Amino acid sequence: MTRIAILSQDPTLYSTRRLREAADELGHDVRVVDYLRCTIHVRAGKPQVSYQGDLLDDFDSIVARIGTKHTIYGTAVVRQFELMGTYVANSSQAILNARDKLRSLQILSSEGVGLPTTGYAHSTQDHSGLIRLVGGAPLVIKLVEGTQGIGVVLADTESAAKSVIEAFRGLDANILVQEFVKESAGQDLRCFVVDDKVVASMLRKATGTEFRANIHRGATAEVAHLTEEETRTAIQAAKVLGLKVAGVDMLRSSRGPLVIEVNASPGLEGIEKATGVDVAGAIIKSVAGKRLKKTPISVLAP
Ligand code: ADP
Ligand code: MG
Repeated sequence: MTRIAILSQDPTLYSTRRLREAADELGHDVRVVDYLRCTIHVRAGKPQVSYQGDLLDDFDSIVARIGTKHTIYGTAVVRQFELMGTYVANSSQAILNARDKLRSLQILSSEGVGLPTTGYAHSTQDHSGLIRLVGGAPLVIKLVEGTQGIGVVLADTESAAKSVIEAFRGLDANILVQEFVKESAGQDLRCFVVDDKVVASMLRKATGTEFRANIHRGATAEVAHLTEEETRTAIQAAKVLGLKVAGVDMLRSSRGPLVIEVNASPGLEGIEKATGVDVAGAIIKSVAGKRLKKTPISVLAP
């Protein structure tokens, strides 16, 4: 029996419910903890976390589901549990690596993972240079911290691209400009990786003329049959970012799979319903059996 905490803001969410259910079924002691209600005690040599006055000092392992709105506080709580010797999936650093699209693509590029050509600039003065870098229009413009397809725009012409870049920058939004992968035509792959294995994968298909294959934008999902290269790429992407649990999204291009984003708290509903795989069970099995380390831990950086 492992003492497992699920860090989640909402116990009624599908993913949280399924993780708790899976842990119960596998005979573990499980508790859902709202990380926003945790207090972090920072003191030399004795890091602690409390929840409404009670110390949380006996979890063996933690499944961290940190919402995009609370990255800073959420990862601070996760880091505190790491300092206490608790096994966490995912680690605070891995969550931070994945949270920002540009940062994750930079890390992936250093390891040679296939990616769409992507440009990032602070100034909008050299539009044409940025547009040329990704092979001209049509091209995709994205908010660095967008999700659910919101903030992903397809610009058909160079002048449309210029206007969109100017508009976003005028709002002080951080954007990246990306090669449009035409061959993937409104489809993307979501590969669910747990401990260096793809446990389930789905092919998402946009409806009508929509090019974004997000379920929130009306896309449908079915079981995906991955090539060996796709499986290898998904596992490598998760590994390079340090993620034990990851939703790796890729486009099928004429030059092989191209990773567009990697999610550190991937939702379970879409993937479990599309594939029938017990993904929650796979996550719980991966954190079970890990033990709280009682060895003294230094909070000083090396
Ligand atoms: P979000 O985080 O909002 O889901 P994504 O980067 O995943 O943003 O983009 C949303 C969708 O848009 C993808 O699922 C994919 O279908 C489509 N898309 C994104 N980038 C490209 C691209 N470079 N070429 C073609 N389609 C893309
Ligand atoms: Mg996406």
